[in-house]
Amino acid sequence: MKIKIAQEIDKSFNALKDLAELLINSPELGYKEEKTSAILREEFARLGIVTNDRVAYTGFKGSLKGRSSGVKVAVLGELDSVICHQHPLADKNTGAAHACGHFAQLVLIVGVAMALKNSGVMDFLPGEVCFMALPAEEFIDLEYRERLVAGGHIKYKSGKQQAIWEGHFDDVGIALMHHLLPRDYPYAVYAGMTSNTFISKMVTYTGRESHAGAAPHEGINALNMAMLALNNINAQRETFIEDDKVRVHSIILRGGDAVNVIPGEVVLETVVRGSSQEAVKRAAEKVDQCLLAGSLAIGGHISIKNSAGYLPLVNDDRLMDVYIGNMEQFIDKEQIAKMGSIAASFDFGDVTHFIPGLHSFICAAEGNLHTKEFKVFNEQLAYVESLKAMAFTIVDLLFDEGKLAEQIINEYAPRMTKESYLKYLKDNSKTMQGKPMKFK
Ligand SMILES: [Zn+2]
Ligand SMILES: [Zn+2]
Repeated sequence: MKIKIAQEIDKSFNALKDLAELLINSPELGYKEEKTSAILREEFARLGIVTNDRVAYTGFKGSLKGRSSGVKVAVLGELDSVICHQHPLADKNTGAAHACGHFAQLVLIVGVAMALKNSGVMDFLPGEVCFMALPAEEFIDLEYRERLVAGGHIKYKSGKQQAIWEGHFDDVGIALMHHLLPRDYPYAVYAGMTSNTFISKMVTYTGRESHAGAAPHEGINALNMAMLALNNINAQRETFIEDDKVRVHSIILRGGDAVNVIPGEVVLETVVRGSSQEAVKRAAEKVDQCLLAGSLAIGGHISIKNSAGYLPLVNDDRLMDVYIGNMEQFIDKEQIAKMGSIAASFDFGDVTHFIPGLHSFICAAEGNLHTKEFKVFNEQLAYVESLKAMAFTIVDLLFDEGKLAEQIINEYAPRMTKESYLKYLKDNSKTMQGKPMKFK
């Protein structure tokens, strides 16, 4: 089976590279991936795989059924890109650019579907392989997503949060995906890596507008509140605990309307990341104080709209072993790491809290993630070997009446139920308000 699959992937190398090129040249932001989704649905239609669209608003899924019922294995790809105006292939209007390598995940799902279908192996395997193309992994462009929430189109601002809520993972037994990394990491492939969790804060400072030349004394400067807050956060950095892996990073989304007007409203976006929910809580309490102090100093109003971010990746131990066993056919054993950690965050982490999952990293790119230099360096690893390793892993899981898949599912201890997960999202997505105060 594996030989047949490998032959199919080798045969399609040029077509898969062309698909990657097409996707890289049509980058779209989360929950706006209409073109990307259409390109991929066409690929699946060509394979004779019917897709179910409007999965998490702009995503879709399609399945290959085995010869009998059994475990459903999902292979995931992310449809969205990040914003990087400086990227040579950025969309001129939106700044959307594929600087996080999600196109390679889309090549993965098409390539694996093609190989499983054309090799005919599903006639010999039980269960089902479900291909999911999900939107909005990058937690950005939040004001647009708030409007989608307000319009009743989505409930959650992340594609996987939304897909989980819609029930698309309810019958999934095992979930698999991978992500590109630059080649200057110490290893070539990471079968398992943990990641950070985070909370996102949309902060609005409200003061009072006034003529900046004639009457600044009558204004309450919202930009000054935001600048103080950012300095306050910097003053707290020395208190962040090393093992908590805290990252606090902010941008000013709206900094004022005109230079001759004292800014009456400023919007700041901040993300607080950490290695665990406790780590984020410890840091976020300090960040909230810092944000509030900015408004107190100037005498304005603050509102902080919190959104629960992604949970840390928890890769299933057995899945990692199966994957490594297959990856070893292409990459030196010493070049494959089973452990590691990255301070970024991935919404697949949420999935791994109640389903056994694998989110490997393939160091086939060059240039850092989210920068204009990011591009694929090792095409063989990105579009051939990593696809084979993933497809072979699926064969191993479903072979012999799906014994291994069932064993993995039975031994897996979920960290959350869907209910407790939705409660976590709710509890960490509250809005806080602060007003100017006076000593009594
Ligand atoms: Zn990214
Ligand atoms: Zn990414």
